[in-house]
Amino acid sequence: MRRVEAGEIDALLPQTQCTRCGYAGCRPSADALAAGATALNRCPPGGAALIGRLAALLGREPLPLDPACGVEAPARLAWIDPDACIGCARCLPPCPVDAILGAARQLHTVIASWCTGCELCLPACPVDCIHMVDWPQQAGPPPTAADNRARFHAHEARRMSSAAERERELHQLKQASLPAWSREP
Ligand code: SF4
Ligand code: SF4
Ligand code: SF4
Repeated sequence: MRRVEAGEIDALLPQTQCTRCGYAGCRPSADALAAGATALNRCPPGGAALIGRLAALLGREPLPLDPACGVEAPARLAWIDPDACIGCARCLPPCPVDAILGAARQLHTVIASWCTGCELCLPACPVDCIHMVDWPQQAGPPPTAADNRARFHAHEARRMSSAAERERELHQLKQASLPAWSREP
């Protein structure tokens, strides 16, 4: 049987980046599946349909969804209670698709059509004012895997650019604190 590349597997995954499979996101999960290091029934957002597709691609037997990872459920999205939000901004960094709008000391809100339902923002909130709600019909269809992937890649690019900028600033501060004779040219 031919070797299946991780990219082929990743192309089938829902890209919510929810980590329920036990990996840091969909691509690490795809890498593990390609290496035969994990089972094909550990993605609740993909559910039974994904298990069937993975079984066909990998030439493995389908299995029921592993309940230790969660249950298959209709799409949901995060909603922030405006009366309870204290504007601490702690929910921003964990969101893999930058679906939360707001800044420090401002009311935060979720861009409904971008939310993957990953729930990664919930534990970050110190006042438990983020709630998961059923996907509202008026919000249109939930984002596709392609939408999620594009937003996640943009998020990662922004995160790496910010980290590199911070690194540059720290280096400049360190240089400025040194005696002139020992600074880098
Ligand atoms: S969507 Fe599936 S593969 Fe991706 S992180 Fe969540 S459980 Fe893992
Ligand atoms: S708003 Fe929360 S649930 Fe929605 S994608 Fe962002 S982190 Fe996930
Ligand atoms: S973590 Fe909670 S309280 Fe803080 S900004 Fe986000 S929603 Fe508001």
